[in-house]
Amino acid sequence: MTEPARILVVGGGYVGMYTALRLQRQLRAELRSGAAEIVVVTPEPYMTYQPFLPEAAAGSISPRHVVVPLRRVLDRCRILIGEVLSVDHAERTATLSTLATDEEGTAPVELTYTELVIAPGSVSRTLPVPGLAEHGIGFKTVEEAIGLRNHVIEQMDIASSTRDPAVRDAALTFVFVGGGYAGVEALAELEDMARYTARYYHNIKPGDLRWVLVEASDRILPEVGGKMGRYAVRELRGRNVDVRLETRLDSCEDRVAVLSDGTRLPTRTVVWTAGVRPAPLLAATDLPLNERGRIRCTARLSVEGVDHAWAAGDAAAVPDVTSGAPGGECAPNAQHAVRQARVLAGNITASLRGQPLKEYAHAYAGSVASLGLHKGVAHVYGRRLKGYPAWFMHRAYHLSRVPTFNRKARVLAEWTLSGLFKREIVSLGSLEHPRAEFELAASPPPGDDDKPSS
Ligand SMILES: Cc1cc2nc3c(=O)[nH]c(=O)nc-3n(C[C@H](O)[C@H](O)[C@H](O)COP(=O)(O)OP(=O)(O)OC[C@H]3O[C@@H](n4cnc5c(N)ncnc54)[C@H](O)[C@@H]3O)c2cc1C
Repeated sequence: MTEPARILVVGGGYVGMYTALRLQRQLRAELRSGAAEIVVVTPEPYMTYQPFLPEAAAGSISPRHVVVPLRRVLDRCRILIGEVLSVDHAERTATLSTLATDEEGTAPVELTYTELVIAPGSVSRTLPVPGLAEHGIGFKTVEEAIGLRNHVIEQMDIASSTRDPAVRDAALTFVFVGGGYAGVEALAELEDMARYTARYYHNIKPGDLRWVLVEASDRILPEVGGKMGRYAVRELRGRNVDVRLETRLDSCEDRVAVLSDGTRLPTRTVVWTAGVRPAPLLAATDLPLNERGRIRCTARLSVEGVDHAWAAGDAAAVPDVTSGAPGGECAPNAQHAVRQARVLAGNITASLRGQPLKEYAHAYAGSVASLGLHKGVAHVYGRRLKGYPAWFMHRAYHLSRVPTFNRKARVLAEWTLSGLFKREIVSLGSLEHPRAEFELAASPPPGDDDKPSS
């Protein structure tokens, strides 16, 4: 009897989820007969729809609706919650830690496979800025987005209750580094939310809040083109956001952000969204990487010069065959990741069945970005939109893209309800320390140790 083909999918993000989803449909017969098996290894049991993170931070969408439960969607795959630590493709073996190995303190386990789909995405690209590792806040996960929302509202509570003007100023100063869509949308949504929230504080006016966007190049939102990027700068400045172009963050030690133009900003909030770099796992594989650390791929999404290995998304350097320029590679964004996943799954199925493979070709269609409630900017298929129409387009586009009908319905219901009622202004920061209350209750009152027991 021949061994079943085991397809190992590393990562449960855009590429991992969509590839496994398509494979489980295409290989239905093989999965049923036991001739094939799909194993997805992912640190979280859900896929995060990252474009909704800014709205989750603003409270317009609840965190549960920004993520898609993998076990429900990939019901014919085996889901392993864990992290791939290394891949020895020559031996067709991946080494991984799982929740069980962590809990039991045992050695990582080895998993063999026949086909490898490697899609661990990217992590924040940090620079050796003093103080950044200690004080910086990232914006790539749902935990970070909700943590940031709680943090911003908590700063307003601190500012409202302190008598020290220096503490108040630092609490109300929010510095965002990086003018791509993650940074701009996160800042714009949170600024909008905080300005609204200020009306419920007796001693904070919207003008007391200071929002600073620091961008090293001379423009923001390169995804929507120069003209719309300039409009976004004007729109943000019109809302009193201090947009600093051609400026870098030099340090953020001792809760002071020092910019390259010499400005010193005492602050308790430095959000770092200055680009991404491929996941660190890639360096622990025997797969070929390019100078930026992405996996070298062919346009068929197979790993260059390697059999039975496939890659796509942020982790992969996929040739952009539509650019016309030699050496051009697809940008790390969801638009490519989703489409690449479809081609990748089709090619794996085709290769298992001895059929010809397809090349991935997609010309970048443009982008939409939200600048807060009812404000946005878009440049799609050559059409430029701004203000309310762009914001509407942003919502309509992402609603059509968020996976599963279930999530679409829930997100639409939330938007509809938040249009009817007032905005959510609650901070649930204590959720991050769920045992704190009980620990306090269970700890003996001070001085109790000395009392004789009766
Ligand atoms: C705030 C924000 C907003 C964005 N907005 C847009 C937008 O509007 N439009 C757009 O086109 N793009 C947008 N993007 C970019 C888009 O989300 C990414 O390009 C896309 O997620 C890439 O897909 P991926 O599958 O390569 O990586 P991901 O979706 O990040 O998935 C990678 C997965 O691999 C897992 N993983 C990592 N390491 C390991 C390991 N060692 N073992 C196992 N699993 C591992 C991760 O936990 C994750 O689940 C945005 C990104 C962010 C952060």
